[in-house]
This record gives sequence, C-alpha cells and structure tokens, in this order.
Amino acid sequence: MLSEMRTFVNVHDDLKCWGVDPHPKDWGWKSRNNPEYGYASIWHNLITIRSKAKEPLPPTQCEFYDVSLGKMCNMYCPFCYTNAYGLGQVYPNVVDKIKYLFDNVWYDKNVAPYQVAIGSEGEPTIHPDFIEVLKTFHENGVVPNYTTNGKIFTEPDSNRDEIVKATDMYCGGVALSANEHNTYWREAFDFISQTSNIKINLHMIASDLNSIKYIQDIMKEYDGRVWTYVILPLVANGRSKKCMTDEAYDALVKVINEQRETGKTQVAVGARMYPWIIDPDRPALTGVQAHEPEMFSKNLVLDEHIRITPSSFDTRTTLWQAFDDPKIFF
Ligand code: SF4
Repeated sequence: MLSEMRTFVNVHDDLKCWGVDPHPKDWGWKSRNNPEYGYASIWHNLITIRSKAKEPLPPTQCEFYDVSLGKMCNMYCPFCYTNAYGLGQVYPNVVDKIKYLFDNVWYDKNVAPYQVAIGSEGEPTIHPDFIEVLKTFHENGVVPNYTTNGKIFTEPDSNRDEIVKATDMYCGGVALSANEHNTYWREAFDFISQTSNIKINLHMIASDLNSIKYIQDIMKEYDGRVWTYVILPLVANGRSKKCMTDEAYDALVKVINEQRETGKTQVAVGARMYPWIIDPDRPALTGVQAHEPEMFSKNLVLDEHIRITPSSFDTRTTLWQAFDDPKIFF
C-alpha cells in the first residue's frame, strides 16, 4: 500500500517513457526542494550542487548515507575505527529493511537520498545479501557506492565475478582501502579495472610522516588510473588509539598541492579533516573536494532497530530509529 505512494523520480524510467533505453550508468539528474529548511539541490551525474540550508536537514532526509550491513570483516586492521573483526555481527534481512525505508521513510523524492556509500562498518562484500542490496538501492533510484578492502576480489573461488558484474551494472563507484598493511588492494585494483568500467577511488589513511610518504608514492604510481584519491585522517576510535599528527597534515598539504599541480587524478579529503583545514596555524589546503559535511549526510545502521547515527565514526549516538523495540522478524 505504502509503496504505491512513492513519487520518487527514477531517471531510467523517465528516459524509457521517452523511448530511450538508457544504459544503467546514464545517471541523469535529480532535484530536491525543502523550503522549510531553506534547502534545495540539484544532483547531476553523481555531483550535487546545493543552496546553503538554513538549518540541518532531519536525520531521515539527508542527501547521502553511509550504510552499515554489519561489523564482520575478513581483515583485522590495527587502526580499524569501527572495531570490525572476523566474528563481528552480520545484520540479517538487510534487503527487507531497505525496502521498509523506501516504503515508509524515503517515499518522496524530496526526502530520499541521492546516493549511499555501503560499508561504514565491516567489509560489505562478504555480506550474503550484498549484491541484492546494490540492486535494491538501484531499483529505487538511489545510486549505491561501496568501500572495500578488496580481499574478495583476490579470491577466485569467491563470488567476485557476480559482485563485479553487479558493481558495473548498479554502482557509481568503488573505494578501495589502499593502505600499507593491506596486501590485497593492488591485486583487487587490477581485477576490478580489468573486468569492469567502474570508477575506482583509493581511500588512504593519513596518520604520520611514513603514511604521507606512502600516499605520495601511490599518487605517483596510480596517477590517471584512479578517479579520486580520498585522504582520510586517522582518528582515535575503535581499535585506533591515535589521531593524525599536525606534522603529517602539514606534509600532506604539500603532497596534495604537488598532485594538484602536476597530476591527473583529483584529490578529496574526508569530513574529519575539517579541524585541520580551518586551523589558521596550519598551511592552507585548497583545490580539493571535501566529503559531505554531516549537515547533509548521516550513517544508516541496518541492525534490529534500523538506526540513523551522526556518522560512521559515531555509531552509538542514535538520532532516529525505526523501531524502539528490536524487531526480531527483521
Ligand atoms: S579498517 Fe576496514 S578492512 Fe580493516 S578491519 Fe576495519 S572494516 Fe575491515
């Protein structure tokens, strides 16, 4: 019943009405208008242009969500800010939960997100419903993206062929965690880039001067083959007990400036970089994209409550939940 109320604009269906049979990657454009928050935006081919909102959007009406399918991971990184591990929880029935949200919360184009990034806790590709999750977002007009450590793409006996096919069909982009201790990401990069046309971003953690040197080397080696280098500062959360140092930030600014002047691949930084960016005592960082501020984005945890939290760094603070009592049928 509720699903019949959806007025969400599905770009592909619109094009089909005009006799055009679009490739799934013709993202087209979408728009939102929420005058009560002084907010309007236009989304075109994965880029959002927005007016400055007078006040934050409600947690259920953001443009962008990180999405957690669970806290299980096939790696055990020393700095994992979500504390994911091999026996971590896998949230069940995630496809039904996503459909519930489209039917009851995101039923209108002015409240539905433009995009999601799956994998805010744990490794999303090992979730048994991962492919169906990508498909479900796509079928409801929301572009799925995801972050992965890449390990599954190095395992010929896994369902990596199906995953890369679904990625190519449904996703806006894939972010590979390219960090020194991850021995899988390079092989995963080769596999994904050889078997799909998907945009690949590299996520790199800036912590100390050694990590900045690693980032600099990777920027040179992969320049022009990667869509965006995304630099995320180390934060003290989960298994990580340290933050990025000031001297690492200062060195990073030089590396990013050099990349901007001489390289082909663009650079973006995570929202957690803002304290350093606005610090007048630090060198100016210009000409980079900054990831969505929390004013327009939140974190969706598909657990038994279906919760929205401020960000993937803060999964304990619940801003909204679909069910106060845990719903065990989910
Ligand atoms: S940082 Fe990412 S890859 Fe590493 S343990 Fe955590 S979720 Fe897994």
